Amino acid sequence: MATVGFIGVGVMGREMVLNLLKGGHRVRVFDARPEAAESLRPDGAEIASSVADAMQAAEVAITMLPDTPHVQQVVLGPEGILANPPAGRVLIEMSTISPQATREMSAALAKAGVAMLDAPVSGGPQGAKNATLSIMVGGDGAALERVRPVLAAMGTTIVHMGESGAGQVTKLCNQLVVGINLQGVCEAIALGRAAGVDLGKLRDALLGGAAASWMMQNLAPKILDKDADAGFRIDLMLKDLRLTGELAFALGTPLPGNALVTNLFLEARAHGEGHNGNQALYRVYDRLCNQET
Ligand code: NAD
Repeated sequence: MATVGFIGVGVMGREMVLNLLKGGHRVRVFDARPEAAESLRPDGAEIASSVADAMQAAEVAITMLPDTPHVQQVVLGPEGILANPPAGRVLIEMSTISPQATREMSAALAKAGVAMLDAPVSGGPQGAKNATLSIMVGGDGAALERVRPVLAAMGTTIVHMGESGAGQVTKLCNQLVVGINLQGVCEAIALGRAAGVDLGKLRDALLGGAAASWMMQNLAPKILDKDADAGFRIDLMLKDLRLTGELAFALGTPLPGNALVTNLFLEARAHGEGHNGNQALYRVYDRLCNQET
């Protein structure tokens, strides 16, 4: 069992910490919102007053933060992990962030003898709660084997993708599929609605055939219930699609689907939906069709 210094206990991090605790690991948590960290105390988490404090006696550091600048601050900042490395000298960076920034941080940490694994996840808050996340890992294979029991407390699929940044690249491929797939679900519902078919039956029928997907399974019911709660916020989805577009542009890879779905999510954000769950994409189609589900 390991002592884990865990930074960022929002929608995902909170559930992941609970599973680490259930798995018998000792967890020291820090979050910029003290109340988020404090709420984990009754479950056995130790509350740290800073990143450096969370690293005290930690064998492994884990970060689960919104975006690249947050991770850079927590890793490279004066009070950060580079200046206060965990005793076991492994950082598992589980946010979805830039692959290039990941490689730069990994190089800086390597100079200080700290192995950084990029290990972004897929499966949403439900996957985090059920410890069934898919974890896409980049970085040193030996470091991965050392921390595999920690990852296994949070996820069921753990794939070593290659060198530093390869986990993040994989996650961006994941988000490309997620975004375009959700768009397909929203369009099917918009078309079925316009034609007057029963939308609950439409979902049941599609789930039994080749149109079945995680989105159809998990988010179509929320769309039919007009439940736009996050979940996975549109602001975070836009961050991921932006990172995907930047990577594609740098590599000269045309991704017209990514561009289209990015613009649909931008439309949603322009209508004040950035804090809503990504299934609120259906409201873009409500507006386009001038019809409500
Ligand atoms: P969130 O905003 O709910 O949680 C992030 C937490 O980080 C917050 O509690 C915030 O207070 C904290 N934080 C921000 N800056 C900080 C700092 N400098 N120091 C300490 N704490 C800080 O986000 P989330 O939904 O948990 O997502 C986290 C990451 O996981 C993102 O990169 C996201 O893209 C990715 N992700 C999210 C989901 C999902 O369904 N929500 C699924 C897979 C991956």
